[in-house]
Amino acid sequence: MGQLVIAGGGFAGFWAAAAAARMRRDVPSLASLEIVLISRDDQLVIRPRLYEKDPASMTVALVPRLEAIGVRFEQGEIAAIDVASKVIRAAASVISYDRLVLATGSQLARPAGALGARGFDIDTLAGAAALDRHLHGLAAQPEAHPETEGRWTVVIAGGGFTGIELATDLPERLRSIAAGGKIRVIVVDIADRIGASLGDGPQSAIHEALAAAGIETRTGVAIASADSASVVLSSGERIACRTLVWTTGMCASPLAAKISTRTDALGRIEVTPELRVAGVDHVFAAGDVAHAVADDGGHAALQSCQHAQMTGRFAGFNAAADLAGLPLQAYRQPLYTTCLDLGESGAVLTTGWDRIVQAAGERAKAIKRHINTQLIYPPADRDAILTAASPMVMDEKSFKSRVLGVNS
Ligand SMILES: Cc1cc2nc3c(=O)[nH]c(=O)nc-3n(C[C@H](O)[C@H](O)[C@H](O)COP(=O)(O)OP(=O)(O)OC[C@H]3O[C@@H](n4cnc5c(N)ncnc54)[C@H](O)[C@@H]3O)c2cc1C
Repeated sequence: MGQLVIAGGGFAGFWAAAAAARMRRDVPSLASLEIVLISRDDQLVIRPRLYEKDPASMTVALVPRLEAIGVRFEQGEIAAIDVASKVIRAAASVISYDRLVLATGSQLARPAGALGARGFDIDTLAGAAALDRHLHGLAAQPEAHPETEGRWTVVIAGGGFTGIELATDLPERLRSIAAGGKIRVIVVDIADRIGASLGDGPQSAIHEALAAAGIETRTGVAIASADSASVVLSSGERIACRTLVWTTGMCASPLAAKISTRTDALGRIEVTPELRVAGVDHVFAAGDVAHAVADDGGHAALQSCQHAQMTGRFAGFNAAADLAGLPLQAYRQPLYTTCLDLGESGAVLTTGWDRIVQAAGERAKAIKRHINTQLIYPPADRDAILTAASPMVMDEKSFKSRVLGVNS
């Protein structure tokens, strides 16, 4: 029957593999289909949790789950994809495919040059672990002059979803290591308000949480320069600090541009409603590399875990269906939700593209905990994985009540 290869072992890649394995279980003509997932690590990194303490623990073992559903795992860095000869070139191997699902995700959009090379990030497991080690090592660093000390000052560049979650998590985290030292967390954003990309709905919850935690903000300014002891803003303000963290958005994996030149501003590839790469028939794309538009609302998927999990299911299903000569399914997503962690102030949950607040404070925090500790973790058991791999989605009402516990 041939070989279906999935490039990338994140949320989109895992669920693409699971959806394809489910098709192989259910469609007799796919019984001999080989499914291979290739990724640089043998762990699925739970990226949405990398703002939390102990980031090094935010992984799930891929191999036992893939073995359980009969998917072969190849560990390796993909260097090139040759769509004309249908081969993937990795460091140690060349893998040919009949259908490919590209799911190599995204990476932090750091500023170019020397400025971007400075500072930490929470984009990757290694980046978040390095920040965590640095914070724990601050106490041991030599004293500076009191005016240039800034030992427990953290400047976060970017006041979007990730910057807000990190900022509101940090005061409690720093208190446990600063031993009474003066803690300052400062969020810097070029936009004129923090959380601008999250719309009006959650604004008051965000601003109350920032104020309650004593988090400072600087808006309408950029980071102009940085060294190991300070950050200078475009306004001229110099902030003594030993920690700068970039949370300045994401761009698609560079492999996307090697498949197609039809990309959006985030570097994501244009795909058909069935998630086939426009103009490249045997390649599908899912997750943060795909500019996918759901057929039930016309909104382009975001670079988000919730969209990656669903586009992954559709891409895996459709790649397998295509090999079997079966009809493909147009990508649909039941409901767009945002659940933003606000640290000790709880969280704020919104639903819909106009982001109507459904819950805040402790009630929303309970939902955030459920999402972060259960909902986004793939099951370990074969039957549970294959059951959850169906791309056929619940309607909006049942999604709200069964998944989010919201009845309205
Ligand atoms: C700090 C943070 C907080 C977030 N919070 C949320 C949230 O609250 N809600 C939400 O919905 N989303 C959130 N996101 C976004 C979410 O994590 C991503 O949208 C999601 O991980 C995308 O899934 P993906 O499978 O497309 O890509 P990824 O998770 O990036 O996975 C891509 C995989 O491909 C592998 N890969 C990449 N290039 C290569 C290569 N050349 N060779 C081999 N393997 C390769 C990678 O190692 C990785 O395993 C957050 C992200 C971050 C960083």
